[in-house]
Amino acid sequence: MATKTAEKSRTSRPPEVKDQPLFIGGKWQDSVSGKTFATVNPATGKTICQVAEGDKADIDLAVKAARKAFEAGPWPKMSASERGRLLHKLADLIEQHTDELAALESLDNGKPLVDSRTADLPLTIKCYRYYAGWTDKIHGKTIPVEGDFFCYTRHEPVGVVGQIIPWNFPLLMQAWKWGPALAAGCTIVLKPAEQTPLTALRVAALAQEAGFPDGVVSVVPGFGPTAGAALSGHLDVDKVAFTGEYTTGQLIMEAAAKSNLKRVSLELGGKSPNIVFADADLDAAVEGAYFGLFFNQGQCCCAGSRLFVEDKVHDQLVEKLVKKAKARKVGDPFQADTEQGPQVSQEQFDKVMGFIEVGKKEGAKLLTGGNRIGKEGYFIEPTVFDNVTDEMRIAKEEIFGPVMNVLKFKDLNEVVRRSNQTFYGLAAAVWTRDINKAHRLANGLRAGTVWVNCYDVFDAAAPFGGYKMSGQGRELGEYALELYTEVKTVYVALG
Ligand code: ADP
Repeated sequence: MATKTAEKSRTSRPPEVKDQPLFIGGKWQDSVSGKTFATVNPATGKTICQVAEGDKADIDLAVKAARKAFEAGPWPKMSASERGRLLHKLADLIEQHTDELAALESLDNGKPLVDSRTADLPLTIKCYRYYAGWTDKIHGKTIPVEGDFFCYTRHEPVGVVGQIIPWNFPLLMQAWKWGPALAAGCTIVLKPAEQTPLTALRVAALAQEAGFPDGVVSVVPGFGPTAGAALSGHLDVDKVAFTGEYTTGQLIMEAAAKSNLKRVSLELGGKSPNIVFADADLDAAVEGAYFGLFFNQGQCCCAGSRLFVEDKVHDQLVEKLVKKAKARKVGDPFQADTEQGPQVSQEQFDKVMGFIEVGKKEGAKLLTGGNRIGKEGYFIEPTVFDNVTDEMRIAKEEIFGPVMNVLKFKDLNEVVRRSNQTFYGLAAAVWTRDINKAHRLANGLRAGTVWVNCYDVFDAAAPFGGYKMSGQGRELGEYALELYTEVKTVYVALG
């Protein structure tokens, strides 16, 4: 997520976008109901275009197309290496359309264009390439069982998968879902978030251009309680993968349980501790704390939203952080030097502003920020609260915005205990020069990822997911293939 310097000179214009249909079974079509919804530019609050609104009937059509593609036609007959070739082709096409996709992502989501170009796009492309390499390496074992039998396992695709993604990293979340599912040989119905449907549809067009057979991927934009619920409760969907809020995850699990007990994987929220010891490289820790919270307008499930600072260095560290937060350039995502764009929607803006009020009422000390910027769009000042205590709502609930909470601690055991005092467990970080301390923390923190002297490091090869209510299953890496495969045991009598 570096290499920003070369991008600084790039200021672009937001692209013009036509109204968008659904993509089902290789065809671009209106929704069965004929309804559409507006997707909004969060920098202005104005409509970008209308998008066909998928509902149960459209999900039914897409699932039928996915089932047909899974059972008949070229996809199940295709060799694994040929599937890999298609995934490589998709990655190449995305790379060739980097400028267009980055602009579309920034227009629909509000993230700075420089971030779309230097983080979202490269990570998306790498993810497809990584899984392209896996297609012909997914295989079972031979097992020395008792008796006169030859026993082996096959790792088969789980079938038709429903995938429901959020709006904070639309392209990347699509890649995290599509990469392993396609590598395993599944067929997909994707419901993008209603706030950000545009890049998912564009990638579907590129998948079609790459040569994925009809029905292997369908994209049905629509709302959660309608299209999303229809997908997670569908009787002919074998698995649902979801990223979003834990409360939505609960609804999805319930719908999966009550329909056909389809497999479920969930990547949910977090309240990740970011722990700075007095012996750390403080300048690096300040950079990490700042980036780990404010990146992507604070809209990261793994945001370091509880910054635990050892009391000895508290004042020094906070002073540096506040200085950085005050200097952060907030504004037009298409301006080359913008560091922070708007929140994604009015709803998210209201939620974050609500938490800022809660923080003030609870007695946290507002050091900087706390206000709306401008009258148009959903811009919020980078905000830092100090003197935050464990009981405060801003220390317990996911804010999903540019609001940093600083908590003090005195010793190692105390900070481990307090860090783990949450029903979340997505990520955590520790800053120290003491290797023993670093490892004790890495072992003691109940989180799916622990970063030591770094934050927000991601790689397609390394798993990501949550303990406790932050989720179930691991995405990325070899681990994600388990989410999209069934293990079949075969016994062959030799006697
Ligand atoms: P947020 O509140 O941040 O938008 P959500 O968890 O509500 O997060 O949204 C993530 C994704 O889940 C979106 O694609 C949304 O449409 C979808 N979604 C919301 N509610 C449901 C539901 N009841 N069933 C299935 N999907 C849903």
